[in-house]
Amino acid sequence: MDLIHEGKVKRLYQDPDSDEHVIIEFTDLVTAGDGEKKEEIKGKGQLACDTNSLLLKYLQDKGIPTHLTKELDGPRFRARKLDVFKLEIVCRNRPTGSFCKRYGEPQFDAFSHPLVEFFLKDDSLGDPFISKEAVTRLGIAKPEEMGIIKSLTLSVNYYLTELLAQVDLVLIDFKLEFGRTEKGQILLADEISGDTMRVWGQEGDSLDKDVFRQDKGNIIEAYSKLLRFLKETNPDQVNTRPEQLSVFVLPKEGIKNPPGEVTKKAMKRLGFGQVNDVRVGKIFQIEIDCPVTSEIVKELDMMGLKLLSNPIAEKREVRFG
Ligand code: UDP
Repeated sequence: MDLIHEGKVKRLYQDPDSDEHVIIEFTDLVTAGDGEKKEEIKGKGQLACDTNSLLLKYLQDKGIPTHLTKELDGPRFRARKLDVFKLEIVCRNRPTGSFCKRYGEPQFDAFSHPLVEFFLKDDSLGDPFISKEAVTRLGIAKPEEMGIIKSLTLSVNYYLTELLAQVDLVLIDFKLEFGRTEKGQILLADEISGDTMRVWGQEGDSLDKDVFRQDKGNIIEAYSKLLRFLKETNPDQVNTRPEQLSVFVLPKEGIKNPPGEVTKKAMKRLGFGQVNDVRVGKIFQIEIDCPVTSEIVKELDMMGLKLLSNPIAEKREVRFG
């Protein structure tokens, strides 16, 4: 097989049977601190691969599209070939790791709701923190793609948290990557395993790479325990989470908007003399019973075109949440 790319702990090969697929192979390498700490630990690759396959298949069943297409013998799986966004998306339920290094230890143990952060995937720059606006200005992803990526990340967090809770495990944080197919479909890429998430047992014991990072014990034992627990879960008992989307419809510039003019006059009459212009539009708040994928957004945009707006006189925008 032709090697396309060798990462820190995985190898990417061209699938000899399909131009549209790759074979991803996990190695036994464990790295921490941007590769400063590195060790080969026999069996780690297979455990990470099995954990990843179990979790990606589960997420796929819950409606989150992923790149995994087939499990293979050994620490390998077949995946859709993607143009992977140069982004690492971190979702945190509790402040730890680089969050505390950056901002110090906060006074609270857990975030009131999950925090999503973006990092530029560039080893030579040390994977720096990046704002959503910088991502779109640099052309790494479009604003709509960022909306989908953030929404899917929060869905992943919900489904993983609920699954782990069945076996009394707590999801602290995790890192995701996404990519797009040639047709623009956004898929969850890379891996989810003890290498890319923090999971704590009831006593605060780590079942993840912190065992290696902080020399807290045997990583094979920790990863085996995580996988064993995951195999005891019942994915059918995790309820579907409804998701919210909105479609904003506004009259286009230059199109008369009588309700806006009436409102403007009324505002002036009531003493708000600063008002220059008012445009009155509509908001459709929509709840769906599946994750917000690129297909859903495309379908909703079609609904906006056909039903929710008059495309000649009105502009529309899908907003997330
Ligand atoms: N993470 C990862 N790859 C990275 C950076 C982080 O998989 O290159 C994971 C890490 O295992 C943790 C989460 O993302 O579960 C948040 O990591 P953090 O930003 O706190 O950085 P770290 O503590 O790993 O330096």
